[in-house]
Amino acid sequence: MADTALMTIPGQIDPVTVPREVTARQDGKVDLIGLPRSRIAELFGEAGLDAKAAKLRAKQVFHWLYHRGVTEFASMTDIAKTMRPWLAERFVIGRPQIVESQHSVDGTRKWLLRTADGHEFEMVFIPDETRGTLCVSSQVGCTLNCRFCHTGTMRLVRNLTPGEIVGQVMLARDALGEWPKGSMAGFGDDDDETGGDYTSDGRLLTNIVMMGMGEPLYNFEHVRDALRLVMDGDGLGLSKRRITLSTSGVVPMMARAGEEIGVNLAVSLHATSKEVRDEIVPLNRKYGLDELLTACAAYPGASNSRRITFEYVMLDGVNDSDDDARELVRLLKQYKLPAKVNLIPFNPWPGAPYGTSPPERVRQFAEIVFAGGISAPVRTPRGRDIDAACGQLKTAAEKKSRAELDRLAEEKQAALG
Ligand code: SAH
Ligand code: SF4
Repeated sequence: MADTALMTIPGQIDPVTVPREVTARQDGKVDLIGLPRSRIAELFGEAGLDAKAAKLRAKQVFHWLYHRGVTEFASMTDIAKTMRPWLAERFVIGRPQIVESQHSVDGTRKWLLRTADGHEFEMVFIPDETRGTLCVSSQVGCTLNCRFCHTGTMRLVRNLTPGEIVGQVMLARDALGEWPKGSMAGFGDDDDETGGDYTSDGRLLTNIVMMGMGEPLYNFEHVRDALRLVMDGDGLGLSKRRITLSTSGVVPMMARAGEEIGVNLAVSLHATSKEVRDEIVPLNRKYGLDELLTACAAYPGASNSRRITFEYVMLDGVNDSDDDARELVRLLKQYKLPAKVNLIPFNPWPGAPYGTSPPERVRQFAEIVFAGGISAPVRTPRGRDIDAACGQLKTAAEKKSRAELDRLAEEKQAALG
């Protein structure tokens, strides 16, 4: 599968990702997904178009890629027929490959995906009455080793590219059948318009959370560039208010995340004392609670109408006492944080060193936080029947034979295309 070796982890507590090249495509073509419009225009210019034509074509192609979700240049009906093969000879429209997909009885869907150079990662879609949330990965594996997290048991293989990150959202739209139908009358220099009304919908997938595999702030630039395409009105057009980035507490990158991306922030707090957080989120030994909560208080854009979410995984007998709940309220108030708390029942995985707090304990904990004036919903476990904990699908799949996975991948691709 992968033709790149596992990367060495340079440290134990704060192993900053070493940038590593993605294996280049063997056909030498450039994947346009993940590139800003200006870069697409530059590439068209380098390939021989004059500046004006390059800019116009880039605008048209960008619209087809992100508004209509086409995966073939041949489908770009307002681009001259002779131009379409010219594009196809030089460029591709990428999507992560689907290795395996699972559909839970509660509507949760989970995909095991593969990069063009053979690395596997995950994506999950969670629908409820009012929204549909896509959980997006930022890295293959993770350099951090949170003790309750299954991804934390894997080594970091590499950062995902902007194309592989925004590609997850596009793949979800493909699978959910959410690209607008109809033509683009009035857009660009139509030369063989086919007629019909262009309507934009997208009701199923309404929210995005960067809570899949990996630490998004250790792949900051790629995550930023991908989310800019997701938020771009000419791109996928999702409001920044519907996007949440979750970090385990990479303090030095938090201000930049607020300034350069501006999405909602979620922080994986999980403990209220140095001792416990040092153990379960080892990054705490590098950036402690005081530094973390100070950075949260300074997060650009946080306010009472845009609260910071503090994630708190409930581990039986570790961090779930009444005193922990009271200390949590005290800390959030001490730093004057516009906060809400998300209580997550621990999702067990084989060999995990922790157990799930009993429902009664979770309820009592939630009540104390709520009585302290802080909203504390308990996140209902979803997709329990489909290996829901992050990283489990990847591990389960690794036990299957390579031939079986390749066959599954071909089937899924055929079903989609
Ligand atoms: N690396 C980032 C985002 C990915 S993890 C972060 O740590 O915030 C997304 C969330 O899932 C985090 O809050 C993480 O702590 C939590 N999580 C990881 N494994 C879990 C498990 N087995 N059960 C419940 N929550 C888990
Ligand atoms: Fe990495 Fe987040 Fe898992 Fe920690 S919880 S190991 S930061 S993915």
